[in-house]
Amino acid sequence: MLAPQAPASNATRRYQLFIDGKWVDAESGKTFASINPATGETLAEVAEADAPDIDKAVQAARRAFEGKWSKVSARDRGRLLYKLAQLVEARAKELAELETLDNGKPIRESLYVDLPEVIEHFEYFAGMATKIEGETIPVPGRMFNYTLREPLGVCGAIIPWNYPLVMAAWKLAPALSAGNTVVLKPAEQTPITALELGKLVQEAGFPEGVVNIVPGFGERAGAALASHPGVDKIAFTGSTEVGKKIARAAAENLTKVSLELGGKAPNIIFADADLDQAVNGALMGIFFNQGQVCTAGSRIFLDERIKDEFLTRFRERAEQIRIGDPLDKQTQMGPQVSEEQLAKVRHYVNVAREEGATLLTGGEPPALDGPLARGYFFRPTIFTDVKNEMRVAQEEIFGPVAAVIAFKDEDELIKQANQTIYGLSAGVWTRDVTRAHRLAREIRAGVIWINTYNIFNAASPFGGYKQSGYGREMGKHAIELYTQVKSVWVDLSGRPIGWYNR
Ligand code: NAP
Ligand code: MG
Repeated sequence: MLAPQAPASNATRRYQLFIDGKWVDAESGKTFASINPATGETLAEVAEADAPDIDKAVQAARRAFEGKWSKVSARDRGRLLYKLAQLVEARAKELAELETLDNGKPIRESLYVDLPEVIEHFEYFAGMATKIEGETIPVPGRMFNYTLREPLGVCGAIIPWNYPLVMAAWKLAPALSAGNTVVLKPAEQTPITALELGKLVQEAGFPEGVVNIVPGFGERAGAALASHPGVDKIAFTGSTEVGKKIARAAAENLTKVSLELGGKAPNIIFADADLDQAVNGALMGIFFNQGQVCTAGSRIFLDERIKDEFLTRFRERAEQIRIGDPLDKQTQMGPQVSEEQLAKVRHYVNVAREEGATLLTGGEPPALDGPLARGYFFRPTIFTDVKNEMRVAQEEIFGPVAAVIAFKDEDELIKQANQTIYGLSAGVWTRDVTRAHRLAREIRAGVIWINTYNIFNAASPFGGYKQSGYGREMGKHAIELYTQVKSVWVDLSGRPIGWYNR
């Protein structure tokens, strides 16, 4: 059993900012509360970074970048990252529990999905550090031209609350692997595990200032980081709306930016699909992590011919999802991350009804007893008779709300699937291999899953088309986001440049 610890309410935890290798209060002395969304109780009091703290962190990261960190070899950077992976692994259960308490996601997800992904990420990029290479270029004449791939410098990372520790790993691992230093701002709803990670960064032996962790509010701490002239790169994951603000703020200093933003993914089910697999895939697509996934398969395009059979099974399975205490290993769905997020989900349920969609199941909170009655829970919700133009099909809800759109014809389907401002991911369920690969090309999205959904690996690139962002995280592509190329020319002739001698 994973939850022998006292519940959050008995012991409010306290956290400071992690700047220059030290744990410090905010300059303002202010703190904010992080809430356990399963009960609405305060889980921790956290120091609140604002512009002066961000400035301190950026300066510390700059000193580290130009000082000690620049002298650490690629091999040793790899060893430090590997050590960090091992420390995370040793504390995986505790970190998973904290993640569940702070975010509300079921322990079976934090322990068996999130934590393994974090460890894998640090391991993968530990190995990558020694594989970052330049090239030699075949130029004409007696010249030698080669490139150096160098780190960018101080990287600001701003992350969302849906995968707090995973998102921290996605940013830290490649940035550090490539020799950068980092100032990380976690989301205000879920700052705790990033700060716990800071303790492990310290224990692993990274020089001070290489990693700085500064929780605070987006409009203050986040904005100060995005607009700081001492930051060389901003890596952001979050909503498309805030992504645009980040890009604008960064434009002032021409700070490099990579953006992983929202989505409204089509999950497309053809009549020839294995129906069992497709039903499971649709559930996984929209209800995993309470629907709070940027790749959520929130638009389910369903072949008319299997509509009734599919919906009967989909509905039945959705209604069987076990909602409850996220620390209970049996629980399959926890609360939404915040009261605000719950209100957003409720709002969209009303919008969908007003637009004329049919509520097949859900649409309200479940009945729960005890402390959980004050949690931000919502039932798995399915709308049918949805038209692709409706708001419920176009706007990202980021909750457990599926919009089912029926289709007859493949060409029309492709057109509709692409009719969205987003392009992060898509799912295709069919036994026809030709059609599967055809759709993989036709759909404008950064990730296509065929007969599967929500699969990730540190080695495989991830990122969006269209307004889902730019840049590719993970795999070798991530290194491009955290390095720049220098071209070096060397004369091999030993003679003066001829031009002015003629
Ligand atoms: P969000 O409001 O965009 O916030 C993301 C981060 O940005 C948070 O740390 C937030 O801080 C900060 N922030 C907010 N306003 C800011 C500003 N003006 N300047 C600088 N930073 C600012 O998104 P969210 O509500 O946390 O997460 C949900 C959204 O993230 C969804 O739309 C989802 O699609 C997207 N998402 C995308 C991916 C992906 O990989 N593409 C992954 C996960 C989530 P505060 O929390 O303090 O406001
Ligand atoms: Mg919380």
